Amino acid sequence: MKAWVLYGKEDLRYDQREKPIPVSGEVLISVSRVGICGSDMSYYKTGKIGVYTPTRPFIIGHEFSGEICEIGAEVKDFKIGDRVAVEPSMPCGRCDYCRVGRYNLCKNMRYLGSAMYDPPVDGAFCEYITMPAENCFKIPENLEYGIAALMEPLSVATHALMRAGSLPGHSILITGAGTIGQLILILARAFGVAKVAVTDPEEGQRKLALKQGADYALDPSVAELPDQIREIAPGGFDIVLEASGIVNALRQGFEYVRDGGTIVQIGILPAEEKIPIGKIMFKELKIVGSFRFCNVFHTAIEMAASGRINIEPLITQVFPFTKLTEAIQFACQGNNIIKIQAQL
Ligand SMILES: [Zn+2]
Ligand SMILES: [Zn+2]
Repeated sequence: MKAWVLYGKEDLRYDQREKPIPVSGEVLISVSRVGICGSDMSYYKTGKIGVYTPTRPFIIGHEFSGEICEIGAEVKDFKIGDRVAVEPSMPCGRCDYCRVGRYNLCKNMRYLGSAMYDPPVDGAFCEYITMPAENCFKIPENLEYGIAALMEPLSVATHALMRAGSLPGHSILITGAGTIGQLILILARAFGVAKVAVTDPEEGQRKLALKQGADYALDPSVAELPDQIREIAPGGFDIVLEASGIVNALRQGFEYVRDGGTIVQIGILPAEEKIPIGKIMFKELKIVGSFRFCNVFHTAIEMAASGRINIEPLITQVFPFTKLTEAIQFACQGNNIIKIQAQL
């Protein structure tokens, strides 16, 4: 089969790989649609993610959907031809975190297309992939493969809002209007928040946020920002969701969260950075991290399939699978671009 293998910085090759065979408890999936994530762009542009550098070439990609085409022994709930969205987390199921249901913190996690573990785990930018059956979720007829391939980032957004606490009637500020920021916005509206403001330096991203239901979309780089925020939320926002991974956005979050409010950090920040921690005590802030997701993949599917939310406008463009390098380079351009996917 064909697979896209990352060898290093800006070195992505369309390689020949052995077609995998499902072992007991696994299914073989013919991949239909794969989304390009910010982490895939980071692997391509820099050869690594955060402080993690892959120790061998590996297949990237973790946002995908497809059709089951082979069934391993002991698999009961699936049949050939089932259309599935696939959760990419493969936790150990035995450590203390797994045992209390917080498997996103598993100490022995294997995550599809990730080099955060050694050796890196091969991902989904390939024609066929084997997965444990328990990672597969049958999708209803009305859920297209493109939407189904958005269930991983939608799960990230769902988890972030659950980490934020009670939402109905509250005001929220979302910093960063990429895929995760936009998904948080769409979900937050469905969950009943009263007021939503979004910040992003890209005009295209702000325009889309307004279309998706943001009350305000602001440019965080302008000098008038403090005045604009004072007018929108005089006492500050109840909840700030930091979805950009930009240190300055978090600093602004400390500024614009109200006393007694909550900051949820979702974007990947550098390991060490000066932030105004003095405010944590004086403002009685709750600072919460949100790492990937756990136990919400089914919720994400239900939200999308029920028609409660419409996330289709976030798919900016679909490239043929053979043109993945061009697709990633295109995705890296930023303005007006949210989710780029590859179609097999
Ligand atoms: Zn992702
Ligand atoms: Zn575990």
